[in-house]
Amino acid sequence: MLTITPNIKFKKELKKLSNSSLNECMQCGNCSVVCTLAPDEKPFPRKEMIWAGWGMKENLIGNVDIWLCHQCGDCSEYCPRDVNPADVLASVRQLSYQHYAKPHFLSKILSKPVWLPIAVLIPTVIIAVILYMAGTLHIPEGEVNYSKFFPHAWLNSSFSFITLSTYLLASFGLIRFWNDMKVQFPETKPGFGILRGMLKILKEVLLHTNFGKCKTQKSRKVSHFLVFWGFILLLVVTIYAIYATFTHQYPLSYSNPFKKLGHLAATMLLIGLGIMIYSRLFNKSKSGHSNYADWLFLISMFLLTLSGIFTDIARSQNWSLAYHIYFFHLISIWFIVIYLPYTKFGHVFYRIVAMSFAKSIGRE
Ligand code: SF4
Ligand code: SF4
Repeated sequence: MLTITPNIKFKKELKKLSNSSLNECMQCGNCSVVCTLAPDEKPFPRKEMIWAGWGMKENLIGNVDIWLCHQCGDCSEYCPRDVNPADVLASVRQLSYQHYAKPHFLSKILSKPVWLPIAVLIPTVIIAVILYMAGTLHIPEGEVNYSKFFPHAWLNSSFSFITLSTYLLASFGLIRFWNDMKVQFPETKPGFGILRGMLKILKEVLLHTNFGKCKTQKSRKVSHFLVFWGFILLLVVTIYAIYATFTHQYPLSYSNPFKKLGHLAATMLLIGLGIMIYSRLFNKSKSGHSNYADWLFLISMFLLTLSGIFTDIARSQNWSLAYHIYFFHLISIWFIVIYLPYTKFGHVFYRIVAMSFAKSIGRE
C-alpha cells in the first residue's frame, strides 16, 4: 500500500508562485497528449499535476521531466480547467533550483522582492571592500580610465575567485539533483555520466531544436536563441578583454573585431530580451503567469546589457558619471554571473544536467 504524506507548505508555495488552482485538475490528460516534448512512457505534465495537487515535493523537485518542458504553453492552451500546467511546471523548476542551490540564504534573498536591498547590498559591500584593499575607493581624477578605479589584476582575480567558488558550491547541488533523478529513474545506462550525456544534447542546446516544437508561443525560439547566443558571444568578448588587459591592449579600439562582436552580442541580447519582455507584458494569455524570478532575470540581464553599453560610451566621452555607471555595471554582472545558480538563469545548469540525464536513461 502506498502512503502519501502531502507537503502542505510546498503546495501552498507552488500555488502562489504559479497562480494555479492546482486541485481543479481533473486528470483528463489533454496536457500530456498535446505536449510534443513528452515521452510516450510516463508522459508529462499530467502526472506532475497530480503530484502538485497532493503536495508531493520529493517527486517534483528531483524530477527529470520538469526540465524537459520548454514552457511552450501548448498544454495550458488546451487545459479544459484552466489550471495552467505550463506555469505549474515553471514554478516547480524554480522551487527545484532553490532547493538544490547552496548556500540556501542566497536562493532565499533572490526569491522575493522584499530581500532585494540585501541582494544589492552584498555585492556593493564586497566590491567596496575590494576597492578599499586595492587603495582605489575614490573617483579618480582626469580622463576616464576604469583601471584606475578597479585595477585589472584586482578585478580579474576577485571576480574569477568569487564566481568559481559560487559555481563549485552549485556543482554540489547539481550532483544531489542527479542522484535524486536516479532515485526516480534508476535504469541509467552503464558508463553514461553527465559528460557523455552533455555531448549527446549539444546539438539540441546549441540550436534550440526543442523550442522549435512550440506551437502556442512560436517567438520563444527566436528570443531564447538570441539571448543564449548573445550571452555566449559576450562571454567570448569578456575572455578576450581579460586577455587584452594582460597584453596592455585594453581598452579595445572600435575597429577591433572583438569590439564589433561585443556590439553584435549586445544587439542580440536587447532584441531577444525585448521580445521576452513584450510577450510577458502584452501577451499574457500565451506567455503565462510571470513571477518575481522571471522579472528579476529579465531586468537584470537587460540592465547588464544597457549598463555595459553606457559604460563604454561614458569612457569614450569622458562623462563625469562614468565611474558610477561602471560600478552599477559591476553590480549587474554580479546579479547575472555570480548569482546565476540562485536565479532563473540557473536553468542553464539544471536543464543541461536534466537533459543529459534523460539521454542517459534513453528518455527521448
Ligand atoms: S492539467 Fe488540465 S489538461 Fe492536464 S490533466 Fe489537469 S485538467 Fe487535464
Ligand atoms: S509547456 Fe509545452 S513543453 Fe511544457 S509540458 Fe506544456 S506542452 Fe509540454
